[in-house]
Amino acid sequence: MAQSFDMIVIGGGPGGYTAALYAARAGLSVLVLEKLSAGGQMALTNQIDNYPGFPEGIDGFTLGEQMQAQAERFGVMTELAEVTGLELSGEIKKVESSEGTFYGKTVVIATGANPRELDVPMERELVGRGVNYCAACDGMFYKGKTVIVVGGGNSAAADAMILSRIAKKVILVHRRDTLRATKIYHDPLMNAPNVEFVWNSQVSELLFESKLTGVKVKNILSGEESVIEADGIFVSIGRKPASGLVRDQVALDESGYIRAGESTETSVPGVFAVGDVRTKVLRQVVTAVSDGAMAAHYAESYLAEQFK
Ligand code: NAP
Repeated sequence: MAQSFDMIVIGGGPGGYTAALYAARAGLSVLVLEKLSAGGQMALTNQIDNYPGFPEGIDGFTLGEQMQAQAERFGVMTELAEVTGLELSGEIKKVESSEGTFYGKTVVIATGANPRELDVPMERELVGRGVNYCAACDGMFYKGKTVIVVGGGNSAAADAMILSRIAKKVILVHRRDTLRATKIYHDPLMNAPNVEFVWNSQVSELLFESKLTGVKVKNILSGEESVIEADGIFVSIGRKPASGLVRDQVALDESGYIRAGESTETSVPGVFAVGDVRTKVLRQVVTAVSDGAMAAHYAESYLAEQFK
C-alpha cells in the first residue's frame, strides 16, 4: 500500500467515511484508519430512526458498512489499524499506527467519543460481570433478569426502552427528578409495566460476589442510602471525546472536545475534526456526516492553497 495520501482519516464512523467519500470524489487520495469496524459508536446502535432515507430505520452496523462500501467505490482505502502517534505540525503530517507509518497532507480526526464511566470502585473490574455500557450490544444477556440503567438523557432512555423488551425489570436511576431525554421517550417509558424510576439518586457503590449483585444508591436530597438488587447495570451517562491522541497538538475545550467550528478546521492548519469529537451542540449521525462533507471541502481548499 502507498504510504502517502492527500488525506488520512482517523476513525471510520459516519463523519470519517463521509469526509473520505467527498474527498475521493474530489480526486484526492484517501486512507481511512479504523481500529475495529466501520461505523464507530453508531455500529453499536441497533435501530437508527432519525437518519433520513430509511423509512423503516436501519441498524447502525449495516449503515456503517454501507458508508464504507460507498466511500471505497470511489477509491478510498481502509486499513484496520490502531493509531499510536501523530505529528501534526509540519506540512506533511505523520501518522504512526499498529500497521506502520503513513504520511498525509491533511488529517481528519474522526475518533468520536467513548462511554463516560460512573467512577465508582470496581467499575472496570466488573465489566463483563454485570457492568455494561451498551444495551444494544449486551442487553440480550439479561433476558428475564433485573437491570439498572443509570442516566436521564437520550441514551439512558433508549437503553431503558431496549432493555424493557428483554429484561424482567428495568430500574432507571437518575440524579434529577425528571428525564432530560426528548419527549418521545417519556410516555412509553412511564407506561411500560416493567420500568421503575429512582429519582434524585446516584449510584455510590457496586455490590458483587463473583459478579454484580446490586448497587448502593444515595438519595442526593436526603442523603439516605439504599440497596437495589440487580443482575446488571447499564451506565448511560453520556460520552467523553476520544481526543487523547491529539491532546498536546490541537486546541481542546475544557471537556476535551477538539475546538473546531462548522468548517471543521482545528487550530492546526491541514487538520480537521469531524463528528462527536468536535465541539458542537448536537451529536448525531446526521451532524457527523455533515461535518465530513465540510472537512473535505475545506481540505480541498487548503491543499489547493498550500501545495500549489
Ligand atoms: P447526555 O444527553 O449528556 O445525558 C447524560 C445523562 O447522564 C444526563 O441525564 C446526566 O445527568 C447524566 N449524568 C452525567 N454524568 C453523570 C454521573 N457521573 N452520574 C450520574 N448521572 C450522570 O448524554 P447521552 O444521553 O448519552 O446523549 C449524548 C448525545 O447523543 C446527545 O446529543 C443525545 O441527543 C444523542 N443521542 C440521541 C439519541 C436519539 O434517540 N436521538 C439516542 C442516544 C443518544 P444531568 O441531566 O443531571 O446532567
